[in-house]
Amino acid sequence: MEKVKQRYDELVERIKKYNYYYYTLDKPLVDDATYDELLKELVAIEEQYPYIVRKDSPTITVGAVIQTSFTEVRHDPPMLSLSNAMDEGEMNDFHNRCAKLLGTVDIEYCAELKYDGLAVELVYQNGIYVQGSTRGDGEVGEDVTENIATIKTIPARLKGDFPEYISVRGEVIMRHGEFERLNQQRRQSGEPEFANPRNAAAGSLRQLDPNVTAQRELDIVLYGIGKIEPVAKALTQSQLYELFKTLGLPAPHYYRVGSLQDVKAFYMYWMENRYTLDFDIDGVVVKVNSFDVRDSMGATSKAPRWAIAWKFPAREAITVLHSVDYQVGRTGLVTPVANLEPINIGGVLVKRATLHNFQEVKRLDIKIGDVVKVIRAGDVIPKVVDVLKDKRHNVREIVTPETCPACNSKLQHEDIYIRCVNPSCPAKEYETLCFFVSKDGMDIEYVGPELLKRLYEQKKVKTIADIYALTRDDLLQVERMGDKIVDKILDAIHQRKEVMLSHFLRALGIRNVGDHIAKVIARHVRSLDRLQELSPQELMRIPEVGPGVAQSVYDFFHNEESLKIITQMLRNGVTVKEEVVEEALENPFKGKTVVFTGTLQSMSRQEAESLIEQLGGKASGSVSKKTDFVVAGTEAGSKLEKAQKLNVRILSEEEFLKMAGRA
Ligand code: NAD
Repeated sequence: MEKVKQRYDELVERIKKYNYYYYTLDKPLVDDATYDELLKELVAIEEQYPYIVRKDSPTITVGAVIQTSFTEVRHDPPMLSLSNAMDEGEMNDFHNRCAKLLGTVDIEYCAELKYDGLAVELVYQNGIYVQGSTRGDGEVGEDVTENIATIKTIPARLKGDFPEYISVRGEVIMRHGEFERLNQQRRQSGEPEFANPRNAAAGSLRQLDPNVTAQRELDIVLYGIGKIEPVAKALTQSQLYELFKTLGLPAPHYYRVGSLQDVKAFYMYWMENRYTLDFDIDGVVVKVNSFDVRDSMGATSKAPRWAIAWKFPAREAITVLHSVDYQVGRTGLVTPVANLEPINIGGVLVKRATLHNFQEVKRLDIKIGDVVKVIRAGDVIPKVVDVLKDKRHNVREIVTPETCPACNSKLQHEDIYIRCVNPSCPAKEYETLCFFVSKDGMDIEYVGPELLKRLYEQKKVKTIADIYALTRDDLLQVERMGDKIVDKILDAIHQRKEVMLSHFLRALGIRNVGDHIAKVIARHVRSLDRLQELSPQELMRIPEVGPGVAQSVYDFFHNEESLKIITQMLRNGVTVKEEVVEEALENPFKGKTVVFTGTLQSMSRQEAESLIEQLGGKASGSVSKKTDFVVAGTEAGSKLEKAQKLNVRILSEEEFLKMAGRA
């Protein structure tokens, strides 16, 4: 028992310290996953030994210790925190608790995003903004009225039929673009960078000088109400959002009202798509929709019983760096790759993570044997982002290689990069083959990295030209390869023998030439012969082609090795078709820039973008003042929000199809 008490006290003190650094100083000492783990341990001890619970336990108190520099503001009613569900089982437990309290399983919920920012309260009296404060410890917060007033989306006056008094609650956030900008500025001026947008938002809002806050672009989303007099007309969470809109208050964009099943679908959708947003969310908040029902459920001292924060699995984890491999890419670039103690991050077992380049190794001051922080964001390759120096013992330096791990030739240092310049380096040859057949290249079905590896090792292919010379026998000799699959492979290769110039060009993997530039060049020069004749100066006359692109295209077509490969390809039956450019007829998209967001029902994003290009328009990935149209599919992301802000014309899928002459 003595040991339990000792551990308990240690946990309370540690968590209190972490709370202070997180809430009051906006400088977290540990990552959220570590913090949550410790808190879970504390809760488990308290559940097993209830008599042990200290009055100052972080499970009883909410949030921050108040700093005296700000005037205090009392919250009426208190601003509570939320209980957490860490997985589907805990979400089901929440539903069962609600069902038990309400005597029915038929419960209507409102599911919304859990914004990762700083909770605040705003007060409007007679329609005029009079006070803004932080959550603080829930009972008492800090007066940041002027600071909050600098947020552009907050109205100084309410619109419409406003109540005499209303206090609303929400989250102040910082969008990714602003976070990058601010950190870059801080790097340049030698100030410490903010660890994440949440800390940046909190640090920016809690400035004693509102002028500093004004220089940082903060945003806010309102998701709750404190008090309203006379009593609100809104009876549910969704009606509250309608009310917010009529008052001109920033309400959430995405939420879904429905059953437990709907809540789960909403959660799954946002777990997959959270990275399409330009702000951080760390889960979904599920609330009983009806206010009357909520009243009957009440709250504990820390959180309401009618809501829960269903967190996304942690996207970061702490593990150990065992060794470093050096990977040679298609262009010869050598990338250090970390071999890690396998660790589960958000449901995926991560064993390797990129270290980007050797300058990054230096910047992180990372060594073999170090305890490291790894993050996995969306589909992106996991990366090592931090080293826990206080856990360091028995470490070894990561050596920068002098020779290529694949061909042993001497590596060349270019700026922050290290490159293998041997043209016949096996790693480069293999990566070139992989790129050529990939979706971004020639898109040859059934021919992937595994097959290529075996064919390369058996010396059946060395260059991309050899792919077109593969015979049935060559393939049958590859281990475990049956007749049927061999037919499919040969057919897939055959289908790609006739190819448009633009497609051919992008598959060659010329430095600086991606899909778009390949199309631009192909449309301009039309034929491969003509392209091979152009000088860098002539290439630069093509719109959008700068000196870098011009030089690399020229170099590629004047390199003996690549010319040999192209000749061989043509000999092996490849025909590069002239690019057909039909002058687009007059249509609403001609000469216009169009951005797609969300999912279209009638076609893929790629098909929609090439349709725009066929119509003489330009498909772009991001919304700016230059965007003419944004086509919004279902579950449209942050681009839609941005389009609304910039007053860009938004089209539904139906309108888009009609205007494109496809409906
Ligand atoms: P919380 O973040 O788990 O959840 C409650 C908060 O969610 C509310 O106060 C509100 O601000 C916010 N919220 C966002 N969207 C919302 C919405 N749509 N509706 C209602 N509320 C919404 O609770 P907390 O008490 O603010 O913070 C606890 C969490 O903070 C921990 O789980 C941990 O991850 C992190 N933390 C980390 C450290 C650290 O040192 N790394 C220290 C303290 C806390």
